[in-house]
Amino acid sequence: MSNGPGAPTPDAVRLCAQASGFARRGQPWFYRDDVAGGELAPSRLVRVRDELGRDLGLGFTSAGRLALRLAGPWPGDGAPDRETFFHARLQAAVARRSGQLGPDDGARLVHGEADGLPGLVVDRYGPVLVLQSTSAVVEGALDAIVPFLVGRLGAESVVARNDVPARRHEGLPAEVRLLHGRRIEAAAIVEHGVGHTVRPFTGHKTGFYLDQRPARGLVRELAAGRTVLDLFSYQGGFSLAALAGGARSATAVDQSAEALAAAAAGAQRNGLTGLTTVEADVFDFLRQQRESGRQADLVVLDPPAFAKSRREVEGASRGYRDLNRQALRVLAPGGFLLTCTCSHHVEPARFEELVRQAAAGLPFRIVLRQRLGAGPDHPVLLTHPGSEYLKVLLLQRPD
Ligand code: SAH
Repeated sequence: MSNGPGAPTPDAVRLCAQASGFARRGQPWFYRDDVAGGELAPSRLVRVRDELGRDLGLGFTSAGRLALRLAGPWPGDGAPDRETFFHARLQAAVARRSGQLGPDDGARLVHGEADGLPGLVVDRYGPVLVLQSTSAVVEGALDAIVPFLVGRLGAESVVARNDVPARRHEGLPAEVRLLHGRRIEAAAIVEHGVGHTVRPFTGHKTGFYLDQRPARGLVRELAAGRTVLDLFSYQGGFSLAALAGGARSATAVDQSAEALAAAAAGAQRNGLTGLTTVEADVFDFLRQQRESGRQADLVVLDPPAFAKSRREVEGASRGYRDLNRQALRVLAPGGFLLTCTCSHHVEPARFEELVRQAAAGLPFRIVLRQRLGAGPDHPVLLTHPGSEYLKVLLLQRPD
């Protein structure tokens, strides 16, 4: 197909036969070699067809590494204009979470592929919306996205937390900037009755680990009367939940003094007593705990992603195994270990196997009590395995 000067950019691309098969089975990501017809540049919203011209829904093209990301079904034939598309998808994503939109709540409103919006994340922290875009199509549609969200949700402030490496592949700059309204440095949210301070411009991720809400809820339920170790605590989200649930004490361990200061401030703001902060490497801390014979009734182990790529899975696996073994060894009889991994590349079955290996050879039995993951505001696209990135296991050493 050739285009004369001024002709519109063709709005369809065709996948090769093999890629079409994957697409029909729900795989959402495709590379340059998978595309058999149509232009990838400029990045835009297109209709996607299989090798026989049959409809595969809409997609975002890119001149970068990820040449095509599928964006789900859409009626009709061509591609809608970006305003129509983004408004419809955003409206649906917000409607799906309408039960989680109390004025003080934190919630993820848009979770990429699972909401038919590849390369877009939107988190809400009370009056602040924080948006993360890793697609040039999303970036080019901010003029449609931001006003819609502001109008629909009455946000006072919209921040782009685009300091993520994935943007490089799309030729987009890493940046953090205010997209709308006034600059709010710290937003207050309430979760399971505990107030947390979220820093949209500087906090980890988009400001807070929203994905661990179910796990913090469980910790709150289990904590009464227990001594709690919150390892890799960051700003003490788990410690505050535990103390609010009646923990006897909580010890937050992190290598960041700044994160620990935020944890201490959070406890004070909530009127919670019993928090100790320890600035240390968790591996060293656990060794010392063990050597001094100290035990805990509830240990939370929430390390950063050890495997940032597939290549790193082997080394990361060793790290998870050792860490989990050390953590199991400090459990008092009856004690719980809540163990987590947020590595996309460490799949659920692999994580369980690592934890099983960590428990092997211990002089006591370990029971798997519960499996958890991110909350319902972080839906998983079943056919996109990496999207189930957060795996959480609740283990217990029986009395
Ligand atoms: N549990 C937290 C999130 C943890 S993020 C929550 O629910 O909010 C991971 C944290 O691990 C970061 O704060 C980082 O400073 C810390 N960290 C990374 N490696 C560490 C190490 N070896 N020892 C101690 N802390 C570490």
